[in-house]
Amino acid sequence: MADFRTIEILVPASSGKLLTDTEDLIRFWMRVELGPTDECWPWTGAMFREGYGQFISNGRSWVAHRIAYQDCVEPIPLRRTVRIVCGNRACCNPRHLRLGGNGRSRNQDTKTLFLDASKKLG
Ligand SMILES: [Zn+2]
Repeated sequence: MADFRTIEILVPASSGKLLTDTEDLIRFWMRVELGPTDECWPWTGAMFREGYGQFISNGRSWVAHRIAYQDCVEPIPLRRTVRIVCGNRACCNPRHLRLGGNGRSRNQDTKTLFLDASKKLG
């Protein structure tokens, strides 16, 4: 459980920028190990020191699971975070990603995350 809180604090909030270039997105998904729908899809490319996947495009560094979320689920609203609910920081399976709060409501957001986790267990 404590690990989820750590993830919430380390995951950067959205700058409002999205990766939209098709060739970049193809390059991105080629570095994700796609698996069965409910299992983790680990990032196989470069990593940030914190353990998150790192994707580089035109000299800009992107957090891998955020690209997976914006490409499969919805654009990430400004200042929002994307949480990895399976606890695997390299995971890019959109089913393991949830939109988080913004930096100013971290406590509230962590609480929501705990509720999510208990739902899964129950
Ligand atoms: Zn996962």
